[in-house]
Amino acid sequence: MTHVVELERCPYDSSPISIRRGGDASVISCDACGAAWEMHGSSLRRLRAPDADTLKAVRERLFPPEILSSKRTAATETAGNAAR
Ligand SMILES: [Zn+2]
Repeated sequence: MTHVVELERCPYDSSPISIRRGGDASVISCDACGAAWEMHGSSLRRLRAPDADTLKAVRERLFPPEILSSKRTAATETAGNAAR
């Protein structure tokens, strides 16, 4: 048995994800936001980014409106860039 890191839920919207195994790679996809990953052994590579609505919803959940609407307190966060 090899130890592999597997996603159980979508990191973006926490929806259950489906795993399609084939050959030496598995394709993981989220039906909720459309994001998809390809798993080779223990390495994970993103095939498809989640849709814009999901990213926006996640961001709004992480950063409440009162923070987002206040330019003074909003740090120049790079989470948005990192998520792309
Ligand atoms: Zn998702």
